[in-house]
Amino acid sequence: MEEVISESKSKTDRRVGLIYDERMCRHCTPDGEHHPENPNRIRAIWKKLESAGIPQRCVVLSAKEAEDKYIHPVHSKNHVNLIRNISSKQFDSRRNKIASKLNSIYLNEGSSEAAYLAAGSVMEVAERVAKGELNSAFAIVRPPGHHAEQDEAMGFCLYNNVAIATNFILNERPELGINKILIVDWDVHHGNGTQKMFWKDPRVLFFSVHRHEFGSFYPANDDGFYTKIGEGPGAGYNINVPWENGRCGDPDYLAVWDHILIPVAKDFNPDMIIISAGFDAAVGDPLGGCCVSPYGYSIMLKKLMEFAQGKIVMALEGGYNLDSLANSVFACMEVLLEDKPIIGSSEPYPFESTWRVIQAVRQELSAFWPTLADKLPKKLTSSKARPYILISSSDSDGENNEGPHILSENIEAAVQNVLQPFSELKVDEDSHDQVATVFNTWRSELSKIEVWYASFGSNMWKPRFLCYVEGGQVEGMQKPCSGSVDRSPPREILWKSVPHRLFFGRDHTRTWGPGGVAFFHPESNTQDKAYVCLYRITLEQFNDILLQENVTSYDMSSPLFDLTALNSVTNKQSISLEVLKRGWYHNVVYLGKEHDVPILTMTCQLSDIESFKSGKVPLHPPSKEYANTLVKGLVEGKQLSEEEAMAYIQEASTKPL
Ligand SMILES: [Zn+2]
Repeated sequence: MEEVISESKSKTDRRVGLIYDERMCRHCTPDGEHHPENPNRIRAIWKKLESAGIPQRCVVLSAKEAEDKYIHPVHSKNHVNLIRNISSKQFDSRRNKIASKLNSIYLNEGSSEAAYLAAGSVMEVAERVAKGELNSAFAIVRPPGHHAEQDEAMGFCLYNNVAIATNFILNERPELGINKILIVDWDVHHGNGTQKMFWKDPRVLFFSVHRHEFGSFYPANDDGFYTKIGEGPGAGYNINVPWENGRCGDPDYLAVWDHILIPVAKDFNPDMIIISAGFDAAVGDPLGGCCVSPYGYSIMLKKLMEFAQGKIVMALEGGYNLDSLANSVFACMEVLLEDKPIIGSSEPYPFESTWRVIQAVRQELSAFWPTLADKLPKKLTSSKARPYILISSSDSDGENNEGPHILSENIEAAVQNVLQPFSELKVDEDSHDQVATVFNTWRSELSKIEVWYASFGSNMWKPRFLCYVEGGQVEGMQKPCSGSVDRSPPREILWKSVPHRLFFGRDHTRTWGPGGVAFFHPESNTQDKAYVCLYRITLEQFNDILLQENVTSYDMSSPLFDLTALNSVTNKQSISLEVLKRGWYHNVVYLGKEHDVPILTMTCQLSDIESFKSGKVPLHPPSKEYANTLVKGLVEGKQLSEEEAMAYIQEASTKPL
């Protein structure tokens, strides 16, 4: 074994730098409370590398604190003062309070030193790689950096380590001849801080691939969308690949590499690459919910080694499953040292949504990067897809999205995957076909059944309803919808009035912000009259709309409302879907037939009506934006005049149930 190593070492003779320093472990929660970004992360990496004999094959360097003068170009005076002093005695009584005012930040006596060491260490390896003393390097640092903004610590990040090092090489060490740097941010979260720092700078091509879900995934804003391409001379030098859903894995990342990053890197021709190497997109990560394998990371890295003569600096960002984190870093070290990926394989088929995102990014950036202008062959993008996971912007979920969230679903299963040896991560062809068949069966079956979806709220305005089919948002919506898998428009639209009560309840939604949203009393009453706009769609589309109205994420490997449910609802009038219990619109109500096609709507269940009556859940008038949308629906649908529509809403908002 040793002979093999020394042989390969003499053959390649790569000088790979490595930095680790136990002092960066002193940054931890002040009360000892568990936190995903904890010292054991870098300890686990170091232990794994040591046990595999990696440090002996590397140039191990000492961590260095960054000097303030090199931090100032990137961070504001106030921010630097805060981070420099926050761990000193004078802040003992105020430290927790200051941290609590920041977004997802804790601070203790060790924070300042760790922040300076993290930034300084990335600078140190970057300088040595730029000089050519090292071929490449990995700085195992914490706290991470890519969320830290010019004037603000956030998302577990104090200083933006990668931005500080990039600025240092370009502006403080011009004699080293590094004029163009490619930053690849493969952390599962968007590198918001880094993006802003080089927004107008064409010397830095910032590329980030991350979960976005139309702005609902941390940091939960639009900064990470693919339309954010940089500005002025920096236009085109900022590339975001925003995932529409979680569970992206090797095939999704590699498709992005092959069809966006690598072609652009060829044209940009960087002098050096810095990787914001978060491993929270790794399989089993409790925050990321994606499934990149160590093998996947090694291929992603290997593909980047072709550029900048292999001058690659890796700086640790996130990564919260210790096994997965350590195994992934180890896989990358093997590539840096040997220039060959570790053994393994991954399934070949990206999600359908992955192709959609790739095409959108290519189109957005084709004016700047002609290599992206060609349309991808249909044969490629329509190849078999894995089961689609729809992540919706549900009206039901009123929670704020503060801080990276821990996902609970299927974590156990994912962790099991991590614990398997790499060779076992191979997915055989048969199991693919099985998945693909199951996936296609229910969708193609239900795509042949037509239903009327009876809308009674903002969906009565067609452009708003189409967001649930085609994706996107209309004016007044604070976040876009993901859309349905089948994006074809409704085959027919008609209006009706039905003997049911319309009312407005709850006081906040993710889509519309403060204000109530429309509900429909599931029981009929001849005294009542509600307008409904009927859209003739497929039962498959109805399922995707049900999902978007109720929960934020669900694996659509089986339908929520199938043929059996359809048959039973036509007998029982109303059926409450167990699987969507958390949502507000999981009660599917049958309203008879039109042209012999069943009419379905979705609303709250009868027990919720009691809560609305008792005041346990508030009745609440809608926000202006929501009301406007509803009025537009009624007016454009020629049901009511604007005044009548306003009065209709007014009555539904105030009359007790
Ligand atoms: Zn992250």
